[in-house]
Amino acid sequence: MYDYTIIGAGIIGSLIARELSKYELKILVLEKENDVANVQTRANSAIVHSGHDPKHGTLKAKLSVEGNKLYDQLEKDLNISLLRTGAFVCAHDKDEEKLLDDLYHNGKLNQVKDMQFFNLQQAQLSEPNLSDDITKVLSLPTTKVCFPWEVAFHALENAIHNGVQIRRNSEIISIQHENDIYILKDQKGKTYETKSVINAAGVYSDDIKDMLSDDAPFKITPRKGEYFVLDKSVKGFINHVLYPLPSKKGKGVLITPQVHGNILLGPNSVFVDDKGSISTSKEGLSYIREHVTSLAKNIPFGLIIRSFSGVRATSTYKDFYIKESTTHPNFFHVAGIDSPGITAAPAIAKYLVDEIINISLPIKSTYDPLLKKKIVFNELSKQEKQEKQKEQPLYGRIICKCEHITEQEIIDAIHGPLGSDTIKGIKKRARAGSGICQGGYCESLIVKIIARETQKPIDKVNYDQENTPILYKETKVTS
Ligand SMILES: Cc1cc2nc3c(=O)[nH]c(=O)nc-3n(C[C@H](O)[C@H](O)[C@H](O)COP(=O)(O)OP(=O)(O)OC[C@H]3O[C@@H](n4cnc5c(N)ncnc54)[C@H](O)[C@@H]3O)c2cc1C
Repeated sequence: MYDYTIIGAGIIGSLIARELSKYELKILVLEKENDVANVQTRANSAIVHSGHDPKHGTLKAKLSVEGNKLYDQLEKDLNISLLRTGAFVCAHDKDEEKLLDDLYHNGKLNQVKDMQFFNLQQAQLSEPNLSDDITKVLSLPTTKVCFPWEVAFHALENAIHNGVQIRRNSEIISIQHENDIYILKDQKGKTYETKSVINAAGVYSDDIKDMLSDDAPFKITPRKGEYFVLDKSVKGFINHVLYPLPSKKGKGVLITPQVHGNILLGPNSVFVDDKGSISTSKEGLSYIREHVTSLAKNIPFGLIIRSFSGVRATSTYKDFYIKESTTHPNFFHVAGIDSPGITAAPAIAKYLVDEIINISLPIKSTYDPLLKKKIVFNELSKQEKQEKQKEQPLYGRIICKCEHITEQEIIDAIHGPLGSDTIKGIKKRARAGSGICQGGYCESLIVKIIARETQKPIDKVNYDQENTPILYKETKVTS
């Protein structure tokens, strides 16, 4: 019997698991995918917003500003990558300048620190590629950029270190409530008994609510956003996050530097029926190309290395819905967590545990908030590299030539506490295959390493989900 079971291992479920792991409790995380943070948390702009934009008085506003501050502690505790970019919101005429003033006042009410206005000349001193059509910018120095997948992954690794259990490939399909106990059943028929449940299922959080026959007032209306990724050789082309003025559709098409040097262009915002869609469209990507040029000149479109999309868990409630069910005690919904969910995530976890669940237990003496830093061979000094190579010769074999990732780092990613045996899982953990050739050179080598390390036949190594092998049969037999 578990004390708490969390449905969903995105950034929200993972940080809640870590927050609960401070206490002497039996905690389980159930995730339908074969990897953590594979849905919304995998595909977004990665911005830790300053909190200037959500309407003052909403939970989104309060938790964004708090979440932004909490990222500094997460960086220290969990060794996450954080880029302190700051941001410019760009106005192009007098009407937009008026909206920029409104945004400034909203930011002031939300207690966003250090905002100031620049004219184009002042702004171009630090961003020479800013479009010449811009008339005024609002500078938001507290804006940062993280690697959301890593935040979730590190938070969950730390939670596991503090006693939390996780099951991947476990999709909850039914929920029963009997005698103060919840019985959760997954797609394989396995059942889990738990005293409390936390619904952190992202775009699927209303499906979980429906399994409970709860009438909580939210429904997810999924909204897709598409992106282009520019190769990391563009690093420095733009150094701040660039926003246009926000509209009803959201924050608009942005330019966002990423922690590994790439730059994202996008997203658009389109309502979709399919919550699981990961496709991009000609129309969507054309829309991005057209709109992004209002922010910067000379955009190096020739350096696009891929496109992707993510689906936002936008809800009819219009704010984050973080409440205990009114009909089912000890069942908590953390729903409608669309943007700025990455930003607010650490504050959402604290708000749920401290204010909604209101745990009154003491913090356990064994709780350890720190996660040991992993070895990133390319970041070591020459001497450290030599020492590591002596200890473990496979640090001397480069597999991903674009990102300089060694065979040992790939082996570490396969066998870690939250290891993976898929090409995509290795790409996320070790960055092998993230460079300009997008795995063209190293994927075939990684397949062999995974097969060897997991003792699987090579044609059973999956690209991403179950049944996505990248090799079907041998075409050339050498004697
Ligand atoms: C295009 C786009 C851009 C964005 N940009 C930003 C940004 O720059 N900054 C920002 O702050 N926010 C941004 N966001 C929002 C942010 O990505 C989300 O708010 C955040 O990732 C939500 O995390 P989550 O854990 O709630 O959801 P998810 O990451 O979707 O996690 C939910 C998990 O629940 C699992 N699950 C679902 N159903 C079940 C089930 N039945 N059984 C078991 N598991 C289940 C899913 O597989 C999934 O892993 C953006 C979102 C999108 C889509």
